[in-house]
Amino acid sequence: MLQIQQNISLKPYNSFGIDVRASFFAEIYSEADLIELFHNEVVKSQKLLVIGGGSNVLFTKDYDGLVVKMSIQGIEAKTDGENVKVTAGAGVVWNDLVNYCVAHQFAGVENLSLIPGTVGASPIQNIGAYGVELKDVFESCTAFEIKTGQIKTFTYADCNFGYRESIFKAELKGQFIITSVTFALKTAGEVNTSYGAIETELQKRGILKPGIADVSAAVSHIRVSKLPDPSTIGNAGSFFKNPIIEKHEFANVVARHPDVVHYPTADDKIKLAAGWLIEQCGWKGKIAGNTGTWKNQALVLVNHGGATGTEVFNFSEQIIDSVKSTFGVTLEREVNIL
Ligand SMILES: Cc1cc2nc3c(=O)[nH]c(=O)nc-3n(C[C@H](O)[C@H](O)[C@H](O)COP(=O)(O)OP(=O)(O)OC[C@H]3O[C@@H](n4cnc5c(N)ncnc54)[C@H](O)[C@@H]3O)c2cc1C
Repeated sequence: MLQIQQNISLKPYNSFGIDVRASFFAEIYSEADLIELFHNEVVKSQKLLVIGGGSNVLFTKDYDGLVVKMSIQGIEAKTDGENVKVTAGAGVVWNDLVNYCVAHQFAGVENLSLIPGTVGASPIQNIGAYGVELKDVFESCTAFEIKTGQIKTFTYADCNFGYRESIFKAELKGQFIITSVTFALKTAGEVNTSYGAIETELQKRGILKPGIADVSAAVSHIRVSKLPDPSTIGNAGSFFKNPIIEKHEFANVVARHPDVVHYPTADDKIKLAAGWLIEQCGWKGKIAGNTGTWKNQALVLVNHGGATGTEVFNFSEQIIDSVKSTFGVTLEREVNIL
């Protein structure tokens, strides 16, 4: 039965552990809950925020509106020879889905092991790690249209996926609530170990012919050694996106910084490593009041305890200014600022 709570703390619902309050809060376990919610006269007129695990948001103030936490469960697989379609509810914890696929030998999501958050949020910013992006395994998703109350299906072509981008962050921002996602995986797939760190980790383990579980274990190990665990130190993973710049802009950067870490992109641009840029400006492991950057990864901003969202945000402004004045490159935040 749908419950609408009032004036609740969002601290348990965001991985930064920022203590703000929401005027209204509802947890959704089914599409029927969504329909009921949007028939409720009190909440209908409220400003709306949808969350999954709250691992890609920074609250800078109380949320004066309705926060909807997606908790629709369920994982289903349909196999057809080498191909398998796996459908999961929006509220399924992302890593539970990965573990399910690894246990069933379904290949495709193992490089995305241990990314925090939920299945429903995975298409929003086209999550990615270790050489794989969500778009590589995305088949379709279903979503509740807030204006009409209808469930619509979005195919790969509908979603306009890009680097940490999708149509749900752009033209359709705030218009749909994803209720389930279907993934196109393989029952006998090749694993992707092209990412250097995975190869090194597998070699260290003496694994010459890695399977899905080996890749998942290697990725999980690398992540745990590099990233802070949000259950002990509040954070939202990479705070900034890796900047993608035009070749002529890159010429200016490399002229002044010949050692700049960079990668060519498929569309003839240059991707810079935001973590490297920030580190070069002296921010790695910096502590500023209750916030700072993580000691092993300058790209991750942390809450050392009791930080406010504004404190973290202002700290991120200083980093942006510093990278801009040193490299002439403008960092864009990956985390959603609220
Ligand atoms: C330690 C750490 C490591 C991380 N590593 C990575 C990484 O390697 N790669 C990566 O891509 N990300 C990474 N992240 C970021 C984060 O895990 C992902 O962005 C994840 O997809 C967020 O899921 P969530 O359920 O927590 O989304 P939330 O933070 O709750 O929401 C994120 C955005 O999606 C929207 N949203 C959420 N659910 C729905 C829904 N069902 N329908 C419509 N809109 C919705 C929200 O409104 C918000 O705008 C990391 C985060 C942490 C804390």
